[in-house]
Amino acid sequence: MPLPGEVVQYIGFSASIALRRAARQSTQEGRRTGLWPRPLGGEPETLLIDPYRPEPLVNFDDPQNHARMEQALEAVQAQLGKHYPLVIGGERRERKDQIRSYNPSMIDETVGTVSKAEPSDIDDAIAAGTEAFRAWSRAGGEFRARVLLKAAANLRREKFLFSALEVYEAGKTWPEADGDVAEAIDFMEYYARQMMRLSAPVETYNLPGEEDEAFYIPLGVGAIIPPWNFPLAILCGMTTGAIVAGNTVLLKPASPTPVIGAWFVRLLEESGMPPGVVNFVPGDGSRIGDYLVGHPEIRFVSFTGSREVGLHINQHAAGHADGQRWIKRVVAEMGGKDAIVVDETADLDAAAEGIVSAAFGFQGQKCSACSRAIVVDEVYDEVARRVAERTKRLTIGAAKNPANALGPVIDASAERKILGYIDQGKKSAQLLAGGGKAADGGHFIQPTVFSDVAPDSALGQEEIFGPVLAMIRARNFDHALEIANGTEYGLTGSLYSKRRDRLERARYEFHVGNLYFNRKCTGAVVGAHPFGGFNMSGTDSKTGSPDYLLLFMQMKAVAEKL
Ligand code: NAP
Ligand code: MG
Repeated sequence: MPLPGEVVQYIGFSASIALRRAARQSTQEGRRTGLWPRPLGGEPETLLIDPYRPEPLVNFDDPQNHARMEQALEAVQAQLGKHYPLVIGGERRERKDQIRSYNPSMIDETVGTVSKAEPSDIDDAIAAGTEAFRAWSRAGGEFRARVLLKAAANLRREKFLFSALEVYEAGKTWPEADGDVAEAIDFMEYYARQMMRLSAPVETYNLPGEEDEAFYIPLGVGAIIPPWNFPLAILCGMTTGAIVAGNTVLLKPASPTPVIGAWFVRLLEESGMPPGVVNFVPGDGSRIGDYLVGHPEIRFVSFTGSREVGLHINQHAAGHADGQRWIKRVVAEMGGKDAIVVDETADLDAAAEGIVSAAFGFQGQKCSACSRAIVVDEVYDEVARRVAERTKRLTIGAAKNPANALGPVIDASAERKILGYIDQGKKSAQLLAGGGKAADGGHFIQPTVFSDVAPDSALGQEEIFGPVLAMIRARNFDHALEIANGTEYGLTGSLYSKRRDRLERARYEFHVGNLYFNRKCTGAVVGAHPFGGFNMSGTDSKTGSPDYLLLFMQMKAVAEKL
């Protein structure tokens, strides 16, 4: 549904005038007490939406929810194998060169085929994004926020279907899939509200005889390049954060999970997103990525993925192509080598539970996953015993079967890479649990625990991104903290301790973007835990925080002599 130009002008114009006037009238008081200027009325009023609340998770023990999920799995199964074209300026385009997306639990099952964009498609998508930008960028923050709120409502209605698709395409277990869908809803609810806040003028001082103001404007047409491991939440958060700020984008989904991306674009369209605002251009990152990132008309790149690709994109985007009129902004969220530290005062059972859950949830394929458990010598053997015991109890198999705690890893190359690390571990450390492939038919790997891993070994330093936990023995708390900080990453971390002085020390010295005390290091919630890492974990562009949308905007100041 295109936005008629007049409507856009009307909304954009009256919003800006009324917002300015209303904000002047109500100043701090209005905004701080939750009053909100309504653009079309011109007077401040209470905003008619509730404060942000995270989406509750589905309890699958409830027989009704269980039955709904079973039904959704059947409904999605009936749709497997469909083709998904490119979407450029709202139009569908099929290409012969296609991605076959398959079910990692059952590698013969095709989830869907997806057309791959060619360079000329990227050119056309940028042209469509540029055209759409003219109206969308001026449509007003509230207008754009409403599209997100509508999309969140629609996603809530289709929650079980999206979760079911994640089970097939990403190999997520039911609760992991549900968590991902809930987080996508959260991102849209949260960013919609943040955009409303940022639509108000920036507070400026009026010089005598002048009207001085400043406000945020979007950047332009950007590239959104998400990973496959939160195939809906991260893709959705990166896309909607950029567009609600007024930008238009080319969305290149990760190649293992493009069907979820295609479904999400359809959902946005059904929620009132005009054509050209999100253009869907799947393709191999290694083949089309450089063309997209290096294109002179791409204004910004929002990337989440590996350290290797993130560094490459950062460097490539820093170059200047013929005709390029800006320095590209790069937002890059990358990998981790996250640690849970346990001292001798900790609740050892809680620590073991947290370690196992954070190490093996979604088969360890989370940037926040616990891949190192660093335990002080005094309680090391006891914690190792409890971790190994719990790990051996984990069931593994097809993600569709809710009895399984773990599903498959994402693809054959991930499987090879992870098994390679397991082989290395067998030579250099002591195997406590797991240690190989779990079953045939899918990419199943046993949850694996190595003990007495050397902190500076490959197992202690490199991101494995699979169900492999390195347990590391520390002499004492000081040593544990030193080991925890001793990688080039800095994404998440946990400390289990009852000592206040240690918690306080870790608060400042444990150098990670997301630090947790006496709980696991996975499971960040939008709005509660602004998420993003330090050092080689990325640009710390805290998603789900009040700062996030500013990454996709720039401030303009206007002074008028009266
Ligand atoms: P990846 O291999 O780096 O890929 C990420 C995205 O980049 C994919 O869409 C990929 O496309 C694309 N890509 C690959 N090469 C490219 C190039 N030369 N130019 C442009 N784009 C290119 O990462 P992944 O395997 O999808 O995801 C796992 C990684 O993401 C892990 O390292 C994990 O820690 C990290 N991660 C970080 C966060 C965070 O918030 N910090 C969150 C989630 C995941 P193809 O799929 O077509 O190759
Ligand atoms: Mg990859």
